Amino acid sequence: MLGERALANVTFYPFWLDRPDAPAPNARLVGNTEADLLIVGGGSTGLWAAILAKEADPSQNVVLIEAENIASGASGRPGAIVSTSVMHGLHNAIRIFPKDIATLEALGQTNIAGFLATLDRYGIDCDAEWNGELTVAVGKESTPVLRQEYELHKQHGHEVMLLDADETRRQLNSPLFEGGLWAKKNSGTLHPAKLAWGLKRAALSLGVRIHEYTPLGELADEGGTVVASTRDGRIRAGKVLLATSAFAAGHPHIKKRVAMVRDRILMTQPLTDEQMDRIGWKNRQGVYDTRTQLNYMRLTRDNRILFGGRLGYFFGGPRDPRLDRTPAPYTRLAEAFFRTFPQLDDVGFTHAWSGPIDLTTRMAVHLQTYHGGKVVYAGGYSGFGVSASRFGADMGLAKLMGSNRPELDCDFASTMPGTIPPEPFRYLGARLTMYALDTADAKGGWRNLWLKFVGKLGFPLS
Ligand SMILES: Cc1cc2nc3c(=O)[nH]c(=O)nc-3n(C[C@H](O)[C@H](O)[C@H](O)COP(=O)(O)OP(=O)(O)OC[C@H]3O[C@@H](n4cnc5c(N)ncnc54)[C@H](O)[C@@H]3O)c2cc1C
Repeated sequence: MLGERALANVTFYPFWLDRPDAPAPNARLVGNTEADLLIVGGGSTGLWAAILAKEADPSQNVVLIEAENIASGASGRPGAIVSTSVMHGLHNAIRIFPKDIATLEALGQTNIAGFLATLDRYGIDCDAEWNGELTVAVGKESTPVLRQEYELHKQHGHEVMLLDADETRRQLNSPLFEGGLWAKKNSGTLHPAKLAWGLKRAALSLGVRIHEYTPLGELADEGGTVVASTRDGRIRAGKVLLATSAFAAGHPHIKKRVAMVRDRILMTQPLTDEQMDRIGWKNRQGVYDTRTQLNYMRLTRDNRILFGGRLGYFFGGPRDPRLDRTPAPYTRLAEAFFRTFPQLDDVGFTHAWSGPIDLTTRMAVHLQTYHGGKVVYAGGYSGFGVSASRFGADMGLAKLMGSNRPELDCDFASTMPGTIPPEPFRYLGARLTMYALDTADAKGGWRNLWLKFVGKLGFPLS
């Protein structure tokens, strides 16, 4: 009931994009053109790739096409808790690439340094707050997991603090939190749309040609070049980077390893000082909890709370976000918010939205190569790509240009995540898995067997 009431005046649109200063879209491509490098997709992977390519070689002729407008995909819709990891966290990096862990950790540090330097270089103000990430244990049974994570982070030289229940609640006051792990360095939160629009400005200033409302149709291999057809034009390009994430556009085989699931988010109205006092959160960290079907939360510059984490799956991974406006899942997310912060029962929500997640079995970026190396897809961040997309762009370009950078010998760049069954099995599997995760409290019988089977496919469910 409380959830329904709090959603009464909600707008089903991302808070981040709902701004009068959103830039006007660039004109769609009409007619034929040529490029040394064509980038498909105007999210953060595509925008970072455009900047990195031009910075590496200003004489390159770079064109970026986007099916709708910049940041209309995942990049304008995330929680935007920023992390140093390029592999969905230290734990996941060790799970998937134990032998490369030292390299991946170093690459994460280099990536975030490059990320910060770019914000400085182009004067991109994206409300960044570098207050760290706080992982909270929901339920006493989760506290040993936090201790293990603490030991792991210490072993790898991270600056982390392990907090007991009282200390955690002093950071962020919720009766659900029984402990916390606060990673302090080079992580925090930002405004993802301001970031994307800043990156777009930077790319344009470097001479990248951007065409919005220009969906790629087909790619034809013509030997030395690739010809990309759009609705009203064609681009002949030497190389093509597919930065199409969960949409998996550009080659029919990408989808074999990338599934589009959606994740949902609610944004509250700005909290008053008195409401803020009820929860603490003076240190304003980005917060995740330890559950598989997790919730994440953060503050905005004007003290709204973003509260996310309710997965959904739609048959075939359709691209139109307007399909995901049925109130029920958002009401359940609102109920989770009020279980987390019962002292905020007078707070309402202003915005609700969902966004596409490019889920892979590895939960981290990978590269797919087509047309004899002239086309590379870089994606698969699985909901953890705000900073990792810069790394994905960098690695995608390196692969595309035939670079001999040693990172490309690591398994993440030279091997593939597992295949995911096609429709209709994908739909059925996703729905069953979400139901099993949702009813985890009553886990037992078929649920355990099913989650084990999904785990065998490579997805980290425990
Ligand atoms: C709800 C949600 C919460 C998240 N929270 C976090 C978080 O807290 N921290 C974090 O690190 N990450 C988070 N992420 C993940 C992060 O947002 C993404 O990993 C990142 O934005 C991916 O960027 P991208 O450019 O690869 O993909 P996208 O931003 O999806 O860009 C792909 C683009 O390709 C375009 N496209 C598709 N098909 C075509 C075509 N045929 N022709 C031309 N263009 C095409 C799309 O329109 C889209 O703009 C979250 C994601 C979601 C959805």
